[in-house]
Amino acid sequence: MHEFLKTEEFRDHIRAYIKQNIRAHVDGLDEETVRTTPHESKLGYSCPPNPDGADWEAECADKERRVVRSQQVHTCTKSTCLHYNKHGRLVCKRRAPWELSDTEYIDENRNWKPKRTHPYINNYCPAISVSLCCNNDIKLLTNGVDMKHASWYLTDYQTKKQNKNNNVSALMAQSLMYHEQHSDHLESVLDRNRLLLFRCQHALNHEMELSGQQVMAYLMGWGDHICSHRYVSLYWSGLRRSLLATFPGLQSKKFW
Ligand SMILES: [Zn+2]
Repeated sequence: MHEFLKTEEFRDHIRAYIKQNIRAHVDGLDEETVRTTPHESKLGYSCPPNPDGADWEAECADKERRVVRSQQVHTCTKSTCLHYNKHGRLVCKRRAPWELSDTEYIDENRNWKPKRTHPYINNYCPAISVSLCCNNDIKLLTNGVDMKHASWYLTDYQTKKQNKNNNVSALMAQSLMYHEQHSDHLESVLDRNRLLLFRCQHALNHEMELSGQQVMAYLMGWGDHICSHRYVSLYWSGLRRSLLATFPGLQSKKFW
């Protein structure tokens, strides 16, 4: 990718790709028309245009404009995206307003931007917008630092990793206190320690965020992983005995 991007011809392909798939602009939708065009909150319940219809392309363009107006215009609020940066300034964590550009752009250093004439219209994929009528975000991955960030973010998001570890020690301390008062019935140190571990694990699980899919899979007894193979236990001593019975000559070999 890095080598290809040095050629104008390949950059032309990328520009065409951006124009087709990564948009942040609709002709005629400027700041004034966004203000005066009504926001359609029920658009998400409508069907996509019929591809066999005579006016399919015009209907798609109309749908795209309405979905963009209703779903892609970003508004910064304190409860959603505004936070204080390290200089004490209130900024949007999604980095709005975004840079304007008269045309689709990419350079050989992998800097790129879609055409954008309204600073608060977020990137979207027209096929997704027209089909699903929902807010969406799309990026071009050019094997650079952006891609690393996107992979990190998506993995975090999909695996619902535990965000905060700072309360773990407090939870453990609480478990230990409870354990000290409620483990006298166990004689054996081993059993008491086992119960302590169980209680600590239980306390952490209790506070952990789980995805809906994961909870549902457990409730339904589907398990939390899928194997492409079946595994069987292989007992080495049995295998050795069987090999030696079949090939007695191996008996004298040192590696046994
Ligand atoms: Zn914002």
